[in-house]
Amino acid sequence: MARIFYDEDAVLSILDGSTVGIIGYGNQGRAWAMNLRDSGVQVIVGNVRDSYWDRAVADGFHVYGISEAVERSDIVCILIPDEVQKTVYRSQVEPYMKSNGMIVFAHGFSIRYGLINPRRDVDVALLAPRMIGVGVRKLYESGYGAPAFVAVKQDATGVAWPKILALAKALGFTRAGVIESSFEEETELDLFTEQAVMPIIISTFLKAYEILVSRGYSVEAVLTELIASGELIEVFRQVCKLGLMSQLILHSKTSQYGQLSRIGRYIDRIHEPMVRSLEEIASGVFSEEWVREQELGYLNFRRLLEEALSLQIEKDSEDLRRRLRIPYDML
Ligand code: NDP
Repeated sequence: MARIFYDEDAVLSILDGSTVGIIGYGNQGRAWAMNLRDSGVQVIVGNVRDSYWDRAVADGFHVYGISEAVERSDIVCILIPDEVQKTVYRSQVEPYMKSNGMIVFAHGFSIRYGLINPRRDVDVALLAPRMIGVGVRKLYESGYGAPAFVAVKQDATGVAWPKILALAKALGFTRAGVIESSFEEETELDLFTEQAVMPIIISTFLKAYEILVSRGYSVEAVLTELIASGELIEVFRQVCKLGLMSQLILHSKTSQYGQLSRIGRYIDRIHEPMVRSLEEIASGVFSEEWVREQELGYLNFRRLLEEALSLQIEKDSEDLRRRLRIPYDML
């Protein structure tokens, strides 16, 4: 059974006298910097000199170039996109890391696939929130926290665990619970959700839209039923709160029977493609493909994105959103 760490398992004062460098002031970086500061941790930001830099200054942080921020930090949090981590790490992080410092990742990709091999004299840890940056901040401000995965890959100092748990506490993550994991597990689960679970959900909507509209159901009714009403947001909220199956009691008996009696028609058909995606992830086939894609200037990625955004369902959804008066911000 995986261990789960809470506030009472972490001692914040371990961070006393340490400076935490937030490298990258984007989605996660801004939320981390603000939560740490509000928890009384000494934080600086390292960024390229551009609009993110200006934002960090406006938010009241001391901002430096990346290598200088690393040099000034005892704990370095790598919060730049995974695709650029290898290059930035080599030139602007590794040569400037303090001996006995700690490097923290918010996602395991670079370490899991060997794109970064940290020096032997630093602690290497993972603190991967299961929440977008805005949510990490919002939950903290409301007195709650996002759950996260935690792992230590390299314990050079012998105190990597108490240090990373203290950081998790300062970020608010131990308020919810921080699950002991590994760089391998976190990365593979994250990629599996992206490459198996989400494609099945998206394909379901695409196929449903195609079949229903081609059989004469109105675009407005189909999209409202499937997406635009926001009903599914509420269903998934109840899935989180009550459980995948237990939330069924909130639906009519017709709905419950319809769902339960038809699941079997689909479930076995998704087994094979799901396992195939997992094997591509675990064997490194996907990561090699993705690195190659980056080297080729995102040629296929750009084409796929362009095709996806120009689908009829996107145009129809946008039209419908304009015609319906739904307060999406309140959902
Ligand atoms: P962002 O895309 O928001 O990062 C933007 C920041 O990275 C900016 O400060 C930007 O600086 C900097 N940056 C981008 N390119 C470069 C570069 N070539 N050199 C130097 N700095 C660069 O990242 P996220 O916050 O989304 O992700 C950060 C980490 O957190 C990743 O490992 C990600 O997997 C992980 N994570 C993200 C989650 C999310 O919700 N987004 C959830 C959980 C984990 P500038 O543009 O000013 O150059």
